[in-house]
Formats: sequence, structure tokens, C-alpha cells
Amino acid sequence: MSAASLPVGGPDLEQARRIATEIPGPRSRELLARQRSLVPAGVGATLPVFVDAAGGGVIVDVDGNSFIDFGSGIAVTTVGNSARAVADRAAAQLNRFTHTCFLVNPYESYLDVCEKLNDLAPGPGEKRTILVNSGAEAVENAVKIARAATGRPGIIVFDHAFHGRTLLTMSLTAKNKPYKQGFGPFVSEVYRAPMAYPFRWPSGPENCAEEAAAALADLVDRQLGADNVAAVLVEPIQGEGGFVVPAPGFLTRVAEICSARGILLIADEIQTGIARTGHMFACEYESLEPDLITTAKGLAGGLPLGAVTGRAELMDAVPDGGLGGTFSGNPVACEAALGVFEEIERYDLLERAREVGDTMREHLGELSYTYPVIGDVRGRGAMIAIEIVEIDGDRVPAPDLAARIAKRCHTEGLLVLTAGSYGNVLRFLPPLSISDELLEEGLAILGDVIAKEAAAAV
Ligand SMILES: *Cc1c(COP(=O)(O)O)cnc(C)c1O
Repeated sequence: MSAASLPVGGPDLEQARRIATEIPGPRSRELLARQRSLVPAGVGATLPVFVDAAGGGVIVDVDGNSFIDFGSGIAVTTVGNSARAVADRAAAQLNRFTHTCFLVNPYESYLDVCEKLNDLAPGPGEKRTILVNSGAEAVENAVKIARAATGRPGIIVFDHAFHGRTLLTMSLTAKNKPYKQGFGPFVSEVYRAPMAYPFRWPSGPENCAEEAAAALADLVDRQLGADNVAAVLVEPIQGEGGFVVPAPGFLTRVAEICSARGILLIADEIQTGIARTGHMFACEYESLEPDLITTAKGLAGGLPLGAVTGRAELMDAVPDGGLGGTFSGNPVACEAALGVFEEIERYDLLERAREVGDTMREHLGELSYTYPVIGDVRGRGAMIAIEIVEIDGDRVPAPDLAARIAKRCHTEGLLVLTAGSYGNVLRFLPPLSISDELLEEGLAILGDVIAKEAAAAV
């Protein structure tokens, strides 16, 4: 399928990069000054240009600048911004009713979203889904369900993990600054195992899966006791941690360790899920069948919706009244999610994610041969990152260089995001509605910027 046939959706936007002012432009600067007097300093922005419209593969700001979007609002607008089916369904729902509270009066669209997720989630047997408002809330509920179903308290998470910003989920998150600093004390019964991070595994990538799995087994059997562990929670590809793809075989070993000990496996697919990586769930790359799966970001095309999907007998372990929330599974967000599934099917966006990924990998692979500051290229589908390192060091992270590359991309009209425990990862998450032309143009800009900044860094 050619990208040109993809629906741009939303406002009628010219699909072109255009830099009309300095970045941020005068109108954005005005609004930024206003933001500083209205919004707390703790709420920052990667690229502080205020948005006027977005769709296809561009974000247009209030000064008339048009940026190529390699961020999708952090992996949210996978089907595109204001994708046709999402916008139409949500608009129609807005005019029928906006809210009843599913716990007071249910409505059918909630069931339709759950049916979709139950059917799509890997693994045999009956499934159930609960809808919530955000990723963090999905993780919170997965932990509640896992504890209720097993009668055990402990949750094992990994180094470099990100699971959210609420008290429980920031306790599950690995990185101190900026997520945790000053916000303790944290939740108890959270334990951390090393992640099988091939690029940074001390004894080399070939030993990574086996040694990391052995460390997990040791944590469970020797330090904690399996009887005290409810679940292992893992991102199949770590998101904020820097798009760390676990060493091949690691996730399978984790699943084996869990199932041999009655520990549940929770896959946090909040960033990886819903077509982003070229499968509906990134778990499918290792034929993993998690007991519970959390989704959110890409689920409703930009409207706030999260979900926990899991085996019926686990999900049903919580008695009536134990789960829910006032806004959870809002009807407008449910219609938007149904629109997302329609777009994925209609335009075969799983295939499109693989195509976008192949194009990115090819370009970035070539760049990594030319520029040794690119230490690693990794990811799956439309979720690819490069890790920036010192040229003369041994994989020494170069966060300042990564930040300069990102900033220069922004002033050239390409929105990229950074990530990583060491802040030295540039991650690329274009919407699948981006045209091939814009994708190629964005990658060419990135190449030019890296050439300039890498030369300046020598
Ligand atoms: C973004 C993210 C979360 C948190 O989602 P919010 O909607 O921001 O609460 C949790 N887990 C992963 C893997 C994420 O990427």
C-alpha cells in the first residue's frame, strides 16, 4: 500500500515541512511566557511550539511552522492525528452523550473495545478487559488484579523500566531523575531485576539473556521466595528507558521462570502496543502469552484511554466494586478506540509499521557506519532508536550530544524525542499516516544534523 493513499484526516493540512520563523516563533514565545505564569515549572516541553493543527505526518504551530512528526505525541497518534474514523466516531458520540459513568449506566462501545482487546490479546482461553483513563492507571490496576488473584504481595520490575508517574507506578519506574527525586517514600514490595540490555551487558550481548534470566531466578528463589511474588512486570521493548529490545530469548525465559513458580507475567504494552511495532502487541515477536497486558498510549488515537486485558479467571478474582473509576472507559474515548481499530484494519497498519521500520533501520544503519557516535540502532516496526555515545570512549553515553542533535532537528523542522536511562537515546515514533516522502525527508535531516554535530563534537 502506498503511503499516499493513507488518510491524512482532521484539518486539511499540507504535508510539507516549513520553517517560517525562528524556533520557537514569536507567538509561541508569548504563549510560553504565559505558560510560565500559569503552569508549574515541573511541566516541561520537549519542543515548546504551541500547536495549531496536526495530521498525516506534520504538526503545524501557531507561527505557521510545519514540523515533520517523529514523535506521535509519545507513541499515541499511531493511526495519525485526528484520523478520520477516530474523529468521526468521537464527534458523533459527543453529540449523543459524553458521560454516564460505566459503573452507573453502561454503554455498548465499552464492550466493543473490550471484545476487540480480548480477541487480539495473545494466548488461549477466555479473556476479560477493564478500561481506565491512562497508562499509569492501567498498571495500577494490573498490580491490584495480580495481587488479588495470587494472594501474594511482591512485584518484580526491571532496571531501565518506566511504568508511570503515580505513587505506585513511579515506585515501579527505575530512573530517579526526573521521575522520583523528592517524591518518596515509595511503595513497598517492589523489587528490581537487571534488564537483558544487550548493548550494555557487562559480559557481552551473547551472554545477556541467560545471565539476566539467572539473576531474575536468583532474586525470586533466594531473596524473595516465589510464594511472596505476585507478578513480574516487563515492557517487551522498554520505552522511556531507551527502546531497549531485550536480548533474544530473554522474555521467553522470564515467562518460563514465572509459570514454573505460579508468578503472573504482566506485559506493559502501553508504548509498544496497538500496531506500533508491526504487531498488535510487541509480545508476539517472542510468541509470549502474558497473563495480563496493559495498553494505553496508541489505544484511542489521542483520547485518554487505558486498558488491562488478561485471563478471565485472574481478572474475575476481584469482587464486584473492586475495580473501576468515575471517568474510566469514557464513551467518547471508547468510540475513538473503535476508530483506531478500524483504521488499523482498513489500511493494514501492521504492515505499514513494518515498512516504516524497515525504512528507518536502513537509513539509520547506514548512518551508524559513517558516524561512530551512533553506538546502537534498535527497536521494532515504527519504534526505532539510536543510542549516542562518545566517539573515543567505550560506549560512554553522550547525553549532551544527543540533546544538541535533538535541538538542531527541532530548529530544522523535525520533531524527535530523547529517552534512555542516560538521556543519550534519540527515539523515533512517526505516525503511520506519515507519507514516505516526509519519512525520507525527516531521515535525511537527521543525517545532516548528525553529520554537523558529530563533526563539531570531535
Ligand atoms: C507512558 C507509559 C506509561 C504511563 O502512561 P501514562 O498514560 O503516561 O500514565 C506506562 N508504561 C509505559 C511502558 C509507558 O510508555
